[in-house]
Amino acid sequence: MELIDLTSLTFEELSEALRQFGLPSFRAGQIYRWIARGVTDFNEMSDLSKDLRLRLSEAFVLSSVTEETCSVSLDGTKKYLFRLSDGNHIETVLMRYEHGNSVCISSQVGCNMGCRFCASTLKGKVRNLTAGEMFAQIAFINRTDPVSHVVVMGVGEPLDNYDALVTFLRNLTSPKGFGMSQRHISVSTCGLVPRMDQLAAEKLQITLSVSLHAPDNETRDRLMPVNRTYPVEELLAACDRYTAATGRRISYEYIMINGVNDTPHHAELLARRLQKKLAHVNLIPMNHVEEREFSPSTPERIRAFSAILTQRGINVTCRRKLGKDIDASCGQLRARFEREHGKQ
Ligand code: SAH
Repeated sequence: MELIDLTSLTFEELSEALRQFGLPSFRAGQIYRWIARGVTDFNEMSDLSKDLRLRLSEAFVLSSVTEETCSVSLDGTKKYLFRLSDGNHIETVLMRYEHGNSVCISSQVGCNMGCRFCASTLKGKVRNLTAGEMFAQIAFINRTDPVSHVVVMGVGEPLDNYDALVTFLRNLTSPKGFGMSQRHISVSTCGLVPRMDQLAAEKLQITLSVSLHAPDNETRDRLMPVNRTYPVEELLAACDRYTAATGRRISYEYIMINGVNDTPHHAELLARRLQKKLAHVNLIPMNHVEEREFSPSTPERIRAFSAILTQRGINVTCRRKLGKDIDASCGQLRARFEREHGKQ
C-alpha cells in the first residue's frame, strides 16, 4: 500500500485523511503544527501516544531532505545540495539580508523550459517536487537559521508544477502552520500565461517575478523558447491582469547578457513597454555558465542601461551578487555534482 505524504496535503486534505484514519479532529491541528515546525519523524511528535505514533508511521510518511553538501560563501550565503528520498538532488540557497534570512528553493528536479543562458535546464526536467519537498527545504534550514522570506527562484519552473506550488504556498502561509507572511514570498516564472491567470485568481499577496530578459520578441525568442508560445505582448497583458486582480506590483527580472539584450536600444524599448505599469525592474548580472555561449555584460553597460530606465521613470534595482564564490546560481551546483559523481 502506498503511504500518504501528509506534508504534501493542505490542512483540509490532511484533516480528511486523518478523519478517515479514525482520529478526532483536534489531532489534525496538532500534527499540522508539528509538520510546520519541521518535524519529519512521527516519533518526535511528543504529544501523541507511542501507539498512535507507530500507527501513523504505518499509514503515512513525511517528506524530508538530507544534506549532501553545504558550501558557505564569504558573504554568509549558504548553498545546500539536498538529496531527496528517491536519490535525486536539488539545490537550495540561504541568503542573509538586513531584513532577515531569505531562502531560494527549487520547485522541480531539472527544468523543461530550455532558457539558453540557464544551467538548470541543460538535461531537461526529471520530475516535479511535491509540496512537502518544497517545504522540507525551508524546514531544514529553519532549524539553524530562522527563515523569514522565501523566493521560488531555484531550479525549475514553479508554474509548471502548479498544484503542488499552491498547496505549498497555502501551507507556508497558514496561520495554523508555518505562518509566513504572504508578502515575504516571491514566485518567479518564465511566463506561462494561462498559469499566471490561474495564480491571479488565487488572490495571494505574494510577489510575482517575471523573467522578461528582453523587451522584444526577436531577442526574447533567441533566449527563451517559451516566448514562441507566449510572446512579449501576451506576457505583459497577463502581468497587467495579475496586477489588476491582486493589486501587487510585478517584479521584472532582466539578466544582463553582453551584446545580446543590454544595448541602449533595448533599454529604451523596455522603458516604453513598462511605461505606466506598476512595475519594478531587477537587473541581474548574468552568471557565466560553462556550457552556455553567452557572457555577462560589463558593469559600465549595466550602469548605462539602468540610467536610461531611471531617466524614463522606471523603478530599477541591480541585484547584488551573493554567493558568487560558491556557484550559487540556478542549477550550477547540481550540474557540477552530477558531473563529478558520473550521474547522467
Ligand atoms: N523558472 C523560473 C524560476 C527559476 S530561474 C523563471 O524562469 O523565472 C530564476 C531566475 O534566474 C530567472 O530569472 C532566470 O532567468 C535566472 N537565471 C537563470 N540562469 C541564469 C544565469 N546564468 N545568470 C543569471 N540569472 C540566471
